[in-house]
Amino acid sequence: MLLEEPYCRMCLAEGRRRQATVVDHVVPLEWSQCDERWNKQGACDPCHDGKSKRERAEGRPCDATIDRQLAEVKRAFEAAAQGGRVDL
Ligand SMILES: [Zn+2]
Repeated sequence: MLLEEPYCRMCLAEGRRRQATVVDHVVPLEWSQCDERWNKQGACDPCHDGKSKRERAEGRPCDATIDRQLAEVKRAFEAAAQGGRVDL
């Protein structure tokens, strides 16, 4: 997984290029039970820790919200894959 996505996606989004060290579930696995490739991203430790803390603080959204988030994540991943952005 990290060979496919060697840089932290959240850092890339902010213009930083930092080595990904963990596989993060975009919509947390605990909430979504979704272990598909499109729901995974490379992340560095600080981003992963920060995201996990935010998720814990916010708590689990309702099922409808989780479903909507999953649909968005899947669409974004497929669009990126079609655009040939293998660095995603
Ligand atoms: Zn990062």
